[in-house]
Amino acid sequence: MLYLYLIILLNKNIRMDLINNRYYIGSIDALDIVNEFGSPVYIYNVEKIISQYNKMKNAFNVPKLKINYAGKALTNLSILKVFNKLGSGFDAVSIQEVKLALDAGFRPEDILYTPNSVSIKEIEKAISYGVKINIDNIEILEYFGTFHNSVPICIRINPHILAGGNSNISVGHIDSKFGISIHQIPLVKRLVETLKININGIHMHTGSDILDIDVFMQAADILFNIAMEFPNLNYIDFGSGFKVKYKPDDYETDIELFGSEMSAKFNEFTKIYGKELILMFEPGKFMVSEAGFFLVKVNAIKQTTSTVFASIDSGFNHLIRPMFYNSYHNIINVSNPTGRPKIYTVVGYICETDTFGWNRKINEIHTGDILGFYNAGAYGFMMSSNYNSRYKPAEVMIYNGEAKLIRKREVYDDILRNQIIVDIDIA
Ligand SMILES: *Cc1c(COP(=O)(O)O)cnc(C)c1O
Repeated sequence: MLYLYLIILLNKNIRMDLINNRYYIGSIDALDIVNEFGSPVYIYNVEKIISQYNKMKNAFNVPKLKINYAGKALTNLSILKVFNKLGSGFDAVSIQEVKLALDAGFRPEDILYTPNSVSIKEIEKAISYGVKINIDNIEILEYFGTFHNSVPICIRINPHILAGGNSNISVGHIDSKFGISIHQIPLVKRLVETLKININGIHMHTGSDILDIDVFMQAADILFNIAMEFPNLNYIDFGSGFKVKYKPDDYETDIELFGSEMSAKFNEFTKIYGKELILMFEPGKFMVSEAGFFLVKVNAIKQTTSTVFASIDSGFNHLIRPMFYNSYHNIINVSNPTGRPKIYTVVGYICETDTFGWNRKINEIHTGDILGFYNAGAYGFMMSSNYNSRYKPAEVMIYNGEAKLIRKREVYDDILRNQIIVDIDIA
């Protein structure tokens, strides 16, 4: 037991740990989790979340740093409470996420609400909650100036950065719907001065999976230039886009290198600006992606003329990223870690193309085996649906050697909820 514990400590929750031919998540046998909570099931290793949070926090050396967890990656209240206890702030993209954060115990001033394409009514609601508001539209800026010019606001800048050949990082480009263009800053300034709007933060978020930290550095130069135009700032928020590993030999954002380069640059800037500012980030994926695993059961093995399919008790209704973004999730056979590796295409039960992974080398799979998906913490459960009238899976949280259910698996009543049965007479 001690031996096992030591290995787990050494391996500290990097992946599922393989010990004596059993897979463990945070020192709990993965098969025991399925036996207790059923399949399919999402599992979150809180120790990994804590280590990611601390890794990021420790990477920076600035007088004031604030990490706002981007809740949209995973908003289960039990997970939000972990972030609140860690001292994290919260980045919300909808009023419902604002409410969830408040329910989890975040103080309104630790919540940054970054809406896009929402109604004035929703923004009014956010004002009434007293959260920080991030505006990415000139029209709404004018509205603030007219009706709420005492409420401090942050403006989301679109820096028009498009870095080499990766379409994933292009939400900051010229045709993007996000942000206020840097070319509109003269107009923003005119409005701010005329309507006496209180701009206390500037923000950018250029997209996801940014590999090249030079992209951030380049964006930092742009944001610092803009910051000089606004003398009352309290914070500068560089958004997110930190990349995590999906495969063992994958690249991930070098957060230590980024932290040291960015800190130096930021400290230099605040000297020029003449005031201490808060350096902010809002990571989602970086915080929770690798902490999450999705366990499923194999319903059937089907050999066709060209392919061996492993069909599982789930589909893109539970994990849409492979079909939606062409994302890669490593898939392992939890039940048979020593089986001879064979090539499988892993598919779901949805009645249209529903493939989780093509031509994957996985230890020999038998009907009834449990498969495990990696990187299931971010945008996994959150993007699940009831398509094909299936139930959403359960969610389980692991901390300190204990597995706790944090969301029940749905049942038939959940499918019926809110339906109003109107039984018309057809003439
Ligand atoms: C989605 C989003 C994030 C988080 O992005 P990740 O890639 O998950 O880190 C941060 N800020 C805003 C405004 C977002 O829309």
